[in-house]
Amino acid sequence: MAIRPIVKWGEGVLHTPSAIVPAVTDEIRTLLDDMNDTMIAAPGIGLAAPQIGVGLRVIVINLTVGEDPKQLIELVNPEYISREGEVKEEEGCLSIPGYAGSPVRPRFVRVKGLGRDGVERVYEGEGLLARAFCHEIDHIDGKLFVDRLTPLKRDLMVRKLRKRAKANDWDDSPS
Ligand SMILES: [Zn+2]
Repeated sequence: MAIRPIVKWGEGVLHTPSAIVPAVTDEIRTLLDDMNDTMIAAPGIGLAAPQIGVGLRVIVINLTVGEDPKQLIELVNPEYISREGEVKEEEGCLSIPGYAGSPVRPRFVRVKGLGRDGVERVYEGEGLLARAFCHEIDHIDGKLFVDRLTPLKRDLMVRKLRKRAKANDWDDSPS
């Protein structure tokens, strides 16, 4: 188990669709462990594999930030079964530290994927959990919340993020 560095906006792996995992192997289980450790250390409520530089369709979510390990959701090759409603709420991203935006997301989702044992799981999420599923599935599709803002807001934020990425400086407060 290890905490891995989190890749920031502008790195190719975050802006490219990730590959389907052909089989849930020990390597994938180690990846899941590292992702969980990294998410808790950040701290965050969700993480996708491309955020640690691995272009595979793997996500973890724990709305308690590891406080309750039983609430950890691990999904390999997650996909939507259904999406309902619309809600606009502010969200952030560990790969875009210091910035937030309010993309429109479904109010409710049903998602399926494989657990760490390779067996299919189905989850339902409402509110924050629905938002977390969508945010992480976006990541493995090469999309960030910035890409879902209105064109005006997106352009404004992208201009700021380009400067940050160019200077590789994500530490101080945003300007
Ligand atoms: Zn994110």
